[in-house]
Amino acid sequence: MRFVCSSPIQPPGRRRLAVRFPTLILIGASAVLIGSAQNASSDVGKQWFAHVQYLADDRLEGRLTGTEGYRKAAQYVADHFKEYGLEPGGTQGYFQPVKFDVQHVVASESKLALHDGRSDTPIHLGESAILGSRLPQRKDVSAPLVFVGYGLHIPEAHYDDFAGVDVRGKIIVYINGGPANIPGALKASARSPQEFVSFVEKAGAVGTITIPNPKSMDIPWDRIKLAASQPGMRLADPELQDSHRPMFTAIWNPAHADELLAGSGHKIADLLAIADAGKPMPRFDLKPALKATVVTKNEQVESPNVAGILRGSDPKLKNQYVVYSAHLDHVGVGEPIKGDKIYNGAMDNASGIASMLDIAEKLGKSGVKVKRSVLFLAVCAEEKGLLGSRYFAQKPTVPKSSIVADLNTDMFLPIFPLNYLVVYGADESTLGEDIQAAAAPLDVRVIPDRAPDRNIFIRSDQYNFIRAGVPSIMPEFGATANSPEDKAEAEWLKNRYHAPSDDAQQPIDLAAAAKFDKLMLQLVERVANASDKPHWKPDSYFRRFAEPRASE
Ligand SMILES: [Zn+2]
Repeated sequence: MRFVCSSPIQPPGRRRLAVRFPTLILIGASAVLIGSAQNASSDVGKQWFAHVQYLADDRLEGRLTGTEGYRKAAQYVADHFKEYGLEPGGTQGYFQPVKFDVQHVVASESKLALHDGRSDTPIHLGESAILGSRLPQRKDVSAPLVFVGYGLHIPEAHYDDFAGVDVRGKIIVYINGGPANIPGALKASARSPQEFVSFVEKAGAVGTITIPNPKSMDIPWDRIKLAASQPGMRLADPELQDSHRPMFTAIWNPAHADELLAGSGHKIADLLAIADAGKPMPRFDLKPALKATVVTKNEQVESPNVAGILRGSDPKLKNQYVVYSAHLDHVGVGEPIKGDKIYNGAMDNASGIASMLDIAEKLGKSGVKVKRSVLFLAVCAEEKGLLGSRYFAQKPTVPKSSIVADLNTDMFLPIFPLNYLVVYGADESTLGEDIQAAAAPLDVRVIPDRAPDRNIFIRSDQYNFIRAGVPSIMPEFGATANSPEDKAEAEWLKNRYHAPSDDAQQPIDLAAAAKFDKLMLQLVERVANASDKPHWKPDSYFRRFAEPRASE
C-alpha cells in the first residue's frame, strides 16, 4: 500500500515479537487464536503462509524495485506461474521489464530555510519537514509561499481552492483532506499525481508543501521522517510522466506547521479544526518565503512486472481478460527500528501475492474451466507511486480493449477473522455486486469505507486500471466502528505499516486468509464466467475514463 501523507511526492517503519507461533493474542475481551496454532490439525492457510514466508524472508531484503531481492521475488512468482500451467503473459516470457529514473535526496547536504524579508531561519530537515524524492527536485529554489487550503481543483464539484489565487512562481502549501460534501472518490482522484501534479505545473507553481492532517495520517511523524532517506522513482518513459520541469516538493510536520503560518493571522490548530469539520478552507499568502538547496543522486534501474495467463475456455470470451493484480514490491532496506532495518512487507504485500498464487494454483491445476481468460499480474514499484501497474495499464501485453476488469489485492490484512469486507470501488461498478455475491455464501458482509480521506481508492494499483477505463475493485478486511478488530487494525497501521515489524513473525489469522482466498476465487470465477462483462454504474465519476471504450 502506498504511503498516505503525500500524493505527488513520496516518503513511509520492526518490532520483533518475543512470542512466536503458536500463540494467543488478546483483542479486547475476546481471545483470538492465531497463526499455525489454530490450524495445527489442518492445512488451512498453510500454502498461503508458505508463500508469505518466502517473499517476506530477510534474504529478499524487502523487495525494493530494482534490487536483487525483488528479482528473486519475481522469479519465484514466474516459476509458480509456470508450475501451475499458466501461459507466459509478459514481453519476455512471464516478465514485462520496466525502466525507472531513481532519485535519492541527500538530506545531510540539503538546506531549507524560511526568509522573512530580513533574515533566514533554518528549518530542521527531519523534524520540521522532509524533502520529496519522487519528482525531480529543483536544485535551488527561492520562492514565495501561498496557502491554498486543501489544494483541490474539482470543476465538476464546483470546488476550486485555486480560484482567484495566483500561484505562478510560488510554492503552494496545502492540508490533505477536503470538504465533507464532496464524494471521497472525487477528492481522491483530484489528489492523484495524474491530476494534481500536472494541474499544479500548468498553474505555474514551482513547488508544493503538503501538511498531512494528523487525523488521517496512517503512521506517526517519527516514522515518516525515517522514510525520507528512501529513493523516489518515476517511470523513465517520458510519455508516462506527469511533470516536465523540476519541482520543489516537501512534507511539513503538522506539529511544526506554525513556522509556515507565522504572521499570517492563522494557526495550524485552527486550520486543522476546519479540515476535521470538512469545511472549506481560507486561502492566503504566507509571510515567509522559502529558500532551499536540494542535493540529489540519480540513477536508472529496471525491474519487471510478472504476468501469467490462464486461458479461458469459451471460443469468444477467451480473448477477454480478467486481471487479478497485486504488487510484489515493498520498500526494501531502510532506517533501523529496534535494530531491524529490513522492511519485509509481509502483509504489504506478500499477502496479496500469496493469495494470487493460491488462486492461480487452484484454477490452473484443478482443470476447472472459466470462460474468459484470467491474467495474473504481479507488479513492481507500487510503493513508488503505482508505477508498475501504470506501465502495464498503459502498455498492456494483451490488447488494451480486451481487459474487462481488475481485481486488485493489496494488504488485505488477515489479522482477525473475516466477517466484513471493505471494498474500494464497490459503488462504482457492477463488480460491487459481484463481490457481494461471492461474499454472501461465506457469511461475509460488504461494509462501507469509513475513512474516505485516507484515499485508499487511489493508493493502490487498481487506480491505473480505472484510469484506463477498466472497472476495478480492491477488497480488504473490514471491521465495525470501535470494535476490537477496528482497534487492532488501527494499532497495526500505527506500529507495523511500513515498519520492519511487518514480517512473517507477526500474528496472522491463517484461517481468515484462507477464507479470503476462497472468496476471491469465487469472485474470479463469477466475473470470468458472466455473460456480460463488468460495467461502470451510470452515475460513477470514474465512468468518464471508459468513455472512448463505449463503442466496443
Ligand atoms: Zn505499502
